[in-house]
Amino acid sequence: MKKIKLSVIFSLTLLFMATTGNAADSAGITYTVSFPEAQAHYADVEMKLTGLKQNTLELKMPVWTPGSYLVREFQRNIETLSVTANGKEIATTKTRKNIWQLNTTGITDLIVKYRVYAFEISVRTSFIDARHGFLSSPDIFIYPGNMLQTPSTVHIIPYKGWTSVSTSLEKVNGDSFTRYSPNYDILFDSPIEVGNQDIFGFNVGGVAYEVAMVGGGSYDKERLKKDLTKVIEQEVAIYGENPNKHYTFIVHNYLKGGGGLEHLSSTVLGASRDAYATESGYENFLSLAAHEHFHLWNVKRLRPIALGPFDYDNENYTTNLWIAEGFTAYYQDIIVRRTQLYTPENYLNILATEINQLENQPGVKFQSLSASSYDAWIKAYRPNENSANNTISYYTKGALVALLLDLEIINDTKGKSSLDDVMKYMYNEYYKVKGRGYTDAEFKQALEKFAGKNLDQFYADYINGLTSIDYNKYVAYAGYKITEELAGSNDAALGITRYPGIPRVIVTGVVRNSAAWVDGINVNDEIVDIDSTPVPETGDLIAGKKPGDKIMVTLIRDGLTQTLPVTLLKSNKVKYKFEELPNANAQQLTVRKKWLTIK
Ligand SMILES: [Zn+2]
Repeated sequence: MKKIKLSVIFSLTLLFMATTGNAADSAGITYTVSFPEAQAHYADVEMKLTGLKQNTLELKMPVWTPGSYLVREFQRNIETLSVTANGKEIATTKTRKNIWQLNTTGITDLIVKYRVYAFEISVRTSFIDARHGFLSSPDIFIYPGNMLQTPSTVHIIPYKGWTSVSTSLEKVNGDSFTRYSPNYDILFDSPIEVGNQDIFGFNVGGVAYEVAMVGGGSYDKERLKKDLTKVIEQEVAIYGENPNKHYTFIVHNYLKGGGGLEHLSSTVLGASRDAYATESGYENFLSLAAHEHFHLWNVKRLRPIALGPFDYDNENYTTNLWIAEGFTAYYQDIIVRRTQLYTPENYLNILATEINQLENQPGVKFQSLSASSYDAWIKAYRPNENSANNTISYYTKGALVALLLDLEIINDTKGKSSLDDVMKYMYNEYYKVKGRGYTDAEFKQALEKFAGKNLDQFYADYINGLTSIDYNKYVAYAGYKITEELAGSNDAALGITRYPGIPRVIVTGVVRNSAAWVDGINVNDEIVDIDSTPVPETGDLIAGKKPGDKIMVTLIRDGLTQTLPVTLLKSNKVKYKFEELPNANAQQLTVRKKWLTIK
């Protein structure tokens, strides 16, 4: 990924200057995006291409958005594509799902027009209605296939009543509605929000931050400025520099919003409008902001070698999303701890929740961390009813592995170094000095350099293997232990998950090796009676029962009623909590201080 060259003078005329070199060098590209039917969720795009010097041209559209590892085939939302040159229509031929080919012999300038339907609310897809337009660039901008390095300008014509544009793309001649992109990697990495968003700014260490709040919400601007500043300062302190001159937070506040997507100089965050009203909701928002902002180093610049330059036509496979996402997930919470918004106890509770999430997922025994990363395209982003039984999250396990490595390094160096030093070293060595991504072996070498020990067994066990994590070995370095609160219990479990928020019991998941699994309850079954008694609308279906009890479960499957005998089994659920070790020694207190005390 290339850095934005701020020294470039952003002038429209620059784009049309002919230079020597290959055909792409002389081309000028200007997009005009308008919204004549925003209420029906359309953007109308016109691309003017000048200075062509080639006999054939491929017009392409990415099939995925970097940061979101799923082929989404955005071109399915394209309508009425037409190409004209000198007032005459040019025929196009589809040669792939995302490629239109045309004969450009003797043609230097052409105009491409098309419409994009955009009605998917997420941080990684465009959404347009009469209130606002969110343009996730890879699903809006068709590009000339051999010109990824060509600059372009984007001119926005807003829908009636829309007043503002928020994006990290540079303004042209101070015009907020005309933006410049030095190349397509930057254009595709720069979402654009158009509408009446509530915009406010602040400055951190000379970097101008802008927050664009879309959709309203009960946020307190002054508090957000103060706390985001602390988050940003703590993250900059790890890497020693902030490579941006400006950065944009686009925040989508919906009735039920969520998620985030990182970009080079901006991010898109999803939040519920009422998230800011409670302390836990506010903390979760800050933790999300900390996560996405941390990515501006970890993955947007310091990156696995497979993630850039991007192949926009295909899946980009890497076994290292546990570093790109898992380490970021680890840092999102420890950063909020470092701002003092979390007490050490709050923070340890968050870690315990993550341990419980991982250890209660049967997939922990079936999918390694590196495999979960590689198969993100077909598994993590395409979950089904059985996913919990055969997959894990590289976010959760990756964050826990980051915890182990942080504690290992702090312990091995007697508090002199931590995982922070590995991240800073890797950022300098690979992004700044070598200018490329890292391999799996190179990241491991850096961890070993700071830990001062070989990590072959660690990788064999926890990264590439299925060995159960020995949490207590690592948390003991900081004078803690984790205990399992349900170890002595003899609770029975049926082993189903149910559709939430409705009074009927419709099965959405069957836990591997549970009673429901062994005796054949299926996903989509509606359980109506147990032992001839109607099931309660909410709460425990098997209250008072013990492991070994036999029950008769009456259910409706595919419209037919049947009764299954089920023998209840002991619940496998675990619930960990952190405790301080009594009489922690000086080394343990040193590690704890380095790990959890404000830097
Ligand atoms: Zn992330």
